[in-house]
Amino acid sequence: MKYDYLIVGAGLFGATFAHLANKRGKRCLVIDKRPHTGGNIYCEKIDGINVHKYGAHIFHTSDREVWEFVNSIVPFNRYTNCPVAQAPDGKLYSLPFNMNTFYQMWGVKTPCEAQDKLEEQRADAVARMQAEGVSAPRNLEEQALTLIGKDIYEQLIKGYTEKQWGRKCTDLPAFIIRRLPVRMTYDNNYFNDSYQGIPIGGYNRLIDGLLEGVEVKTETDFFADCEYWKTVADKVVFTGKIDEFFGYRFGKLEYRTVRFETESLHNPNWQGNAVVNYTSVDVPYTRIIEHKHFETFGNAVYDNPKTVISREYSSEWQDGMEPFYPVNDSKNQETYEKYRQLAERESNIIFGGRLAEYKYYDMAPIVAQVLNLFK
Ligand code: FAD
Repeated sequence: MKYDYLIVGAGLFGATFAHLANKRGKRCLVIDKRPHTGGNIYCEKIDGINVHKYGAHIFHTSDREVWEFVNSIVPFNRYTNCPVAQAPDGKLYSLPFNMNTFYQMWGVKTPCEAQDKLEEQRADAVARMQAEGVSAPRNLEEQALTLIGKDIYEQLIKGYTEKQWGRKCTDLPAFIIRRLPVRMTYDNNYFNDSYQGIPIGGYNRLIDGLLEGVEVKTETDFFADCEYWKTVADKVVFTGKIDEFFGYRFGKLEYRTVRFETESLHNPNWQGNAVVNYTSVDVPYTRIIEHKHFETFGNAVYDNPKTVISREYSSEWQDGMEPFYPVNDSKNQETYEKYRQLAERESNIIFGGRLAEYKYYDMAPIVAQVLNLFK
């Protein structure tokens, strides 16, 4: 055999695997059907700006080992995700729900005042449901109302959730929202993790660093000749779709996807923030991403007279679209479980990553998983 490992997929899982195997002297070949490496973290340079082609990616983790590992490949910047939401009432609110949000919504200034207001809102919702003879939330709307009350639900949750799921909140199950965390401090940092940031120079630097010294073939689909590809290496690391690997014999696994409309503008600073959510159901997109803010801070944004924005439209997935978010309902989980059992019998194939495991993973857990494989 020419190689120790054939790695199908040059995304974060495949590239991290290739890096660690290569460092241990293993001969690796990485193939990817796309014309570029990086999988979903790939960035396209437009007007000097790294555009997150498959959706905005923010690296965040509390795992020091993962953080030190990725920073040993490329140093990360200090980007801190602080999204804002443009609500149906026309106002802008800070996210996640914190003292800034409560001040913007109700004018309350202290945590005690905010707590009282939240309690009042929750009690109103519960009383209204009891008056209708409802003892437990029957759907997502009732669940959200009892957890956070009417004002935040209507301004910041309802429209966004309906666009994300393509269904009314009253038709969505209550369990989707188990908790709605609130932060009783003036802290707009979206994540609670110890570390977050974006690779300096963009995600392609991370992938290029991981794949340095590794043989890579892009525009090469494993399924174009899988019998051949299985013969080139002792082991295959497969990070593509598990249902496709087994010829869809138990049916197709379902996904939700996002459609992006990307536009280059003659404006150095269009929305002043990387992420703005649109929470009104009357606005068809869920978010607008202004990519330069991931890597440029303060007035340095004016150094480039142009900017690039992407409007994100959440949509049902069909063949040919990017499979982004697995639909982990019982029907799909049962189908996946059948594929997983078949995969267990394939002793020469390692199935890994978000498509092969039919599971949403953030980037840091993907890296952690591969680091653990090599321990
Ligand atoms: P992928 O990146 O999908 O890589 C799989 C690769 O396999 C692809 O390049 C594909 O072309 C290739 N492939 C598939 N089939 C074949 C085949 N037959 N032959 C050859 N090649 C094949 N994580 C965060 O931590 N923070 C974020 O902010 C964040 N935002 C996200 C936003 C969106 C819209 C999405 C969808 C995900 C986001 N993630 C985020 C998650 C992140 O994208 C994943 O953790 C990461 O991409 C997983 O890497 P992977 O290698 O498993 O999969």
